[in-house]
Amino acid sequence: MKKVTVPRRSKFGEILQRALAGEELTVEEGALLLQAEGKKLQALLQVADEVRRRRVGDIVTYVKNRNINFTNICRGSCRFCAFRRSPGDPEAYVLSPEQIEAKVAEALEIGATEVCVQGGLHPDFRLEDYLQILRAIRRAAPEIHIHAFSPSEINHIAERENMGLEEVIQALKREGLNSVPGTAAEILVDRVRSIICPEKISTEQWIRTIKTCHRLGLPTTATVMYGHVETPLELAQHISIIREIQKETWGFTEFVLLGFMSRNTPLGREFKLEPAPNLVQSLRLHAVARLMLAGYVDNIQASWVKLGPRGAQLMLRAGANDLGGTLMEEHITRAAGGSLDSMSAEQLERLILEMGRIPRQRTTTYELI
Ligand code: SF4
Repeated sequence: MKKVTVPRRSKFGEILQRALAGEELTVEEGALLLQAEGKKLQALLQVADEVRRRRVGDIVTYVKNRNINFTNICRGSCRFCAFRRSPGDPEAYVLSPEQIEAKVAEALEIGATEVCVQGGLHPDFRLEDYLQILRAIRRAAPEIHIHAFSPSEINHIAERENMGLEEVIQALKREGLNSVPGTAAEILVDRVRSIICPEKISTEQWIRTIKTCHRLGLPTTATVMYGHVETPLELAQHISIIREIQKETWGFTEFVLLGFMSRNTPLGREFKLEPAPNLVQSLRLHAVARLMLAGYVDNIQASWVKLGPRGAQLMLRAGANDLGGTLMEEHITRAAGGSLDSMSAEQLERLILEMGRIPRQRTTTYELI
C-alpha cells in the first residue's frame, strides 16, 4: 500500500479517513471535499488514487470505438450547446443510412468493438428513422456493440410517437441496440437545468428513462457535465443520485466526467465562462467521484476530448481508471472549442504507459480484450 498522508484532527481529515476505510460519504461530505485547496487537495488526490488502486488496480482501460453524430438538426435549445443547427441552416446535416454504413465499415477496419451513436432531436424524426439507423449499422457490422440514443432522444421518440418509454426502448432493443449513453444528465438538479437547458428532459425524466433501460436489460453509462453554474453541493447531489440508482439497478457501467467547453455557446457568453474548467476543478471532481461512488460505480472515465491528452493523464492520478474511446470523429466538443477528435489505440496506450499504468483494451461493458 502507498503511504497516504491525511490531515489529522479536522473534519476534512475525518472524511478522508472514512473514505479510506471504505465508508460511504454523504452529499455534504462530498461537497466539502469539492472545495479542497492546497494541502487538503493534495491529500484528497492521494486518497482517491489509493482508493482507485484498491478497487480496480493499476489497469487503465479504453475502448476502440467510433462516434457517429447522425444529425445536428435539433429542436432543443440547450444553452451550453454549440452543436445544434436549425433546419435550413447551411451547416445542418443528416447522415443517410448509406453514409452511416460506410462509417461503420471504417470503424471495423480499425478493429472497433463499438459504435457510439447520438444526434440532435430532429423535429421530423420518427421511431422508424432511429430503427433505420440501427439496421444500417447491423448491415455493416452484425456483431458490433451499438451504444446509442441518449435519454433525451428516447424521450423525443416517445413524445413524437405518443408511446411509453418502455415500448420505445423495447423497439430499439429488438433492432439491435446494446446499451445507452447516459448523456443528457448534465447536472441532475432542476435549479441548474432551468438555467442551462430549460427545455430539456427533467431530472426525474432522466432517472426514469435510465432506470427503465436498466430494468429492460440495457446497461448505460452515467455522465456529469461540470464547470458552469453548478455549486459543489449540486455536484455532490448529482453523484449521489447516480449512486442511489446504482444501488437499485446495478445498470451503470461507468461514470464519465465531461468538463463544459464554453466556446460558441450562449451560456459561456452570458456567464463569461473560461473556455473549459481549470485543472484543479477537474482533479477535485474526478477524486470526489471516485470516493463517493466507490463500490458502486468503480469505473471512472476521464475524457481526453475535453481535457486534452495531458489533462486526461493527470486524472489518472486523481481516481480515474479509464480513458474512454478512440472515437475517430467527434463533432459536439469540436463545435464548442475542442481541438482533438480522434486518438489511435497506440496513442491512448502510450498516454497510459507514461503514467506508469497498464493499458488494456476493453469492451463497452468492461470485459478486458
Ligand atoms: S445538447 Fe443535444 S438536445 Fe440540447 S440543443 Fe444540443 S443537440 Fe439539441
